Amino acid sequence: MKNFLSLILIIIVTSCAPTSEQTNEIQDLEDFLSSVEEENKKEGPVIYSASWISSNFITYDSQKVIADYGTRYTLKSLERSRQAANFDDIKTSPENRRMLDILKSSFVMPPPLDNALASELSQITTNLEAMYGSGEYCFEDGSCYDLEGFESIIDSSRNPSELLRAWQGWHEIGKPMKPMYMRMVEIGNQGSIDLGYEGLSDLWFSKYDMPAEDFLDDTDRVWDEVKPLYDALHCHVRAKLNEHYGDEIVPKSGPLPVHMLGNMWGQSWSNVYDLIYEEETESNYIDVTKIINEKSIDEIEMVEYAEDFFISMGFKPLPETFWERSLFIKPRDRSVVCHASAWNLDPANNDLRIKMCIEKNEEDFITIHHELGHIFYYQAYNHIPTVFQAGANDGFHEAFGDLLTLSITPDYLVDIGFISKDEAEKAKQDPIGLLMKQALDGIVIVPWALMLDKWRSGVFNGEIDEKNLNSSWWNLREEYQGISTSYSRSEDYFDPGAKYHIPGNTPYTRYYLASIMQYQFHEALCNLIDYDGYLHECSIYGNKEAGDKIISTMAMGQSLPWQDAFENLTGSRQLSGKSILNYYAPLKEWLDEQNKNRICGWSEK
Ligand SMILES: [Zn+2]
Repeated sequence: MKNFLSLILIIIVTSCAPTSEQTNEIQDLEDFLSSVEEENKKEGPVIYSASWISSNFITYDSQKVIADYGTRYTLKSLERSRQAANFDDIKTSPENRRMLDILKSSFVMPPPLDNALASELSQITTNLEAMYGSGEYCFEDGSCYDLEGFESIIDSSRNPSELLRAWQGWHEIGKPMKPMYMRMVEIGNQGSIDLGYEGLSDLWFSKYDMPAEDFLDDTDRVWDEVKPLYDALHCHVRAKLNEHYGDEIVPKSGPLPVHMLGNMWGQSWSNVYDLIYEEETESNYIDVTKIINEKSIDEIEMVEYAEDFFISMGFKPLPETFWERSLFIKPRDRSVVCHASAWNLDPANNDLRIKMCIEKNEEDFITIHHELGHIFYYQAYNHIPTVFQAGANDGFHEAFGDLLTLSITPDYLVDIGFISKDEAEKAKQDPIGLLMKQALDGIVIVPWALMLDKWRSGVFNGEIDEKNLNSSWWNLREEYQGISTSYSRSEDYFDPGAKYHIPGNTPYTRYYLASIMQYQFHEALCNLIDYDGYLHECSIYGNKEAGDKIISTMAMGQSLPWQDAFENLTGSRQLSGKSILNYYAPLKEWLDEQNKNRICGWSEK
């Protein structure tokens, strides 16, 4: 009876004012969040500087320093995740709750509370990364290749047996990863449960401001919209490869053989463009690489062109330190990580940099625009609390980078003095060539970026187990992409391990989201500026109205549900495949005409 009474009392008390215990907890929560903010401001820039040094001066010592920082940072993040999880049951403001959720879910592979398991997990993840990084295969004739060596064959060879051999060679590296990968998932699931999640799948997919299951369903809904466009492209590509290679190598029906697509994973087909599409006349083609060289535009000037794009839309210029501290040119006297990247080293002081070994060509001209998309995003949200300094969801950063590249149109090239109006008009006469080139990346990536995490969520939640690990991978690849191997791969293989993001535990859904959202952004902005014409010819260069929309969306960071940011820019709260269809409409029409007498699709029925 006494207990019952005190229970009632507590309930009554709770409903009108916090108990002293709760007041303490609320105070603890406020203290915790402000200490996170303070630490981020103080320690973040130092860790970033160490990381910058380790990527710009690859030496024994720099690697030692960053490894040490890495371990300490991991421990710190883990401690924060657990502390954040302790506040699960406390009533607090939506802003605080959002911060706690972000801190809690910051791990992709969280270590469990059990120390032995935690150190086993750390061993496994380090080993898997190293196995991929140092991956190499030697053939019986004694010749050995690493990924770069194999890729140079896959990307450019037109010899089917050489291609198959290179593809098989690289995929040998997955085999020994399989037991380690499964053990890692087992421990990671435990770690996620210890943080209050149902498991890894729940942890990975519940950060999209909706229940994990609804989010995964939603990604499928959008894919259903895009699929007819992909199917038409697939049909045409198969027919053209069949014309070139014959029935033995690329049959007229069924899935495409993965090793024949000019990319190790079949995730981009732009390397076989010349087999897929014959350009109408050579003279229509705008050769940006040639223009850069003829005008003797140097590496820094290429970056200035990209900065000018943003300034033309009303963005603030980049700080002086960006130009002083970035790496633009490959140093002659030391080894650096050349892979292009954008850095936000010290948000409070707006210390922004890119690191890139710029080559004077079209590809890098486009990449610079993409990287500056990240940089201007940082600059737009660097004034808000550090925990919120990120994209609205993990697809936003890449989507904004790519958004700008969609505006590198013939008219833009006229505006910046690269070509004449006449040349632009000529280029526009062959829209199919322009769109086909983009589609072989932009459309081809969509089902791949979706299936990869479909497979992973299946492994995480146990729907896929050791017995069908490899077959489920190929079933999904066939179902989504219409791609397969030309023979069956047994469970001895672990083909997912031959793609960096699997052993490296890098989430992939972000690329799917970016591949869809960038077209929604583009279409919404082109509508906003009352553009009338083909979407692929629309450029938002020089438009302040479009700039305002982008800046206000970027400035939100991840302080609000991503749907709010998305609505601010597009007027809608939902992902949709319609914009990508509108963008490629002229290509789709052309493909349908080409495919008229072909049997499309790849299922056996
Ligand atoms: Zn990027």
